[in-house]
Amino acid sequence: MTKTVVVLGAGMAGLPIAHYLLRKTSTQHTDLRVVLVSPHDTFYWKIASVRFALPDQMTEDKYMYPLAEQFTSYPTEKFELVIGAAETLDPEQNTVGIRVGDGELRSIEYHTLVVATGSRYREDMPWKEVGTSEQTRASLAKLRVQIRDARSIVVAGAGLTGVEFAGELGSAYAKSGLKEITLVGVGELPLEDKIKQSVRETARRELKKLNVRYIGGARVATKTSDDGTKAKSVTLTRADGTTQTITADLVVPTFGLVPNTSFAPEGMRAASGCLRQGEDLRVPGYKNIFVLGDAGDLQPAQAANTDTQTRHLMTQFNSYFRGEAIQPYVFDNSKVQMAFTIGRDRGTGQAGSWQIWSILIWFLKGRHLGTNTADAYARGDAGGMGRAWPK
Ligand SMILES: Cc1cc2nc3c(=O)[nH]c(=O)nc-3n(C[C@H](O)[C@H](O)[C@H](O)COP(=O)(O)OP(=O)(O)OC[C@H]3O[C@@H](n4cnc5c(N)ncnc54)[C@H](O)[C@@H]3O)c2cc1C
Repeated sequence: MTKTVVVLGAGMAGLPIAHYLLRKTSTQHTDLRVVLVSPHDTFYWKIASVRFALPDQMTEDKYMYPLAEQFTSYPTEKFELVIGAAETLDPEQNTVGIRVGDGELRSIEYHTLVVATGSRYREDMPWKEVGTSEQTRASLAKLRVQIRDARSIVVAGAGLTGVEFAGELGSAYAKSGLKEITLVGVGELPLEDKIKQSVRETARRELKKLNVRYIGGARVATKTSDDGTKAKSVTLTRADGTTQTITADLVVPTFGLVPNTSFAPEGMRAASGCLRQGEDLRVPGYKNIFVLGDAGDLQPAQAANTDTQTRHLMTQFNSYFRGEAIQPYVFDNSKVQMAFTIGRDRGTGQAGSWQIWSILIWFLKGRHLGTNTADAYARGDAGGMGRAWPK
């Protein structure tokens, strides 16, 4: 009997998993059929969104790849692409309810479910997918006009996205004096606490070289006249309760990652909103539901973690579909591995306890922000992060 594997989400985990099941696993398990579900009908290369969100930086063909085109080589009896969002999950009946384009809620029965629905940013910011491809395009278009028209911009939130976006704005506008750019973060230094002090100091120094002002120990509390185009007066609050008011034409939020898990039963979710993810990457209590990437609660929301989880699951499929035991996923959340671009030419980062050279970050990440290999990732050729797939 056919075993239907439903993959929810065609992002950095769901897309390679679907390709792998079709290309590798199904050669040994000929009874598999894969249904890939995605509200976004394009694969979105979000790693570069901090650059292409600026006007005139990149054409859409560098960061949006039509999903249907990536799967044309697979026989239709083995693969179906469903453009829609999961709205319900009934693990007792093994069904998911998918809201498809015309508004119908389509019920799909699965043998195995892989949840790879990731996360999104608050306020419909296009750092990641905003619902459908049309919604993401509209959000990008609005932001580009706002950036073009603003003389002064406050970037709210100094995590990876905020630092990289402020760096791009610095490179494009502040360095040459075209616009004033301010980055506001809760830490005295940019980036999260878990990052080494020296890396965070480098980030602040590199931003300063681009004429980006950093205001630390503060968060954006209120902004007046914020009609979506102009925010004149921006109040910052500090941990000690004091406030500071600055002015800016535009405030751009870069914080607030929300997991896309509302379709799942309450009991499957952790307090963070992510799905509970056991060390075999399954939802505890459910032998046929796997969770990967940002939607799960095992590891911080990073592509590097998504990639190792995805690769691990790939190596377990043969045993799983034979009905055998699968191996636990081994990980170490104390090890920091992150690269931050700061503008077009510089960057900083950390691998374990080592600080990574700026030139290496530029070479490995900042030059292209992955857009040079994103098409291969979308087609399933690079096997994810430019490395070959597991056998
Ligand atoms: C600007 C930026 C730069 C980054 N740089 C790095 C980096 O350098 N290194 C690093 O390790 N990480 C980086 N990340 C983080 C990385 O992008 C995420 O960790 C990664 O995308 C997670 O992959 P995922 O497959 O879990 O989720 P996503 O890539 O978010 O994909 C989830 C998919 O699920 C779909 N979906 C949503 N809701 C539903 C639903 N209800 N039903 C079906 N499908 C749904 C979405 O449309 C989306 O396509 C960066 C993130 C951003 C925003």
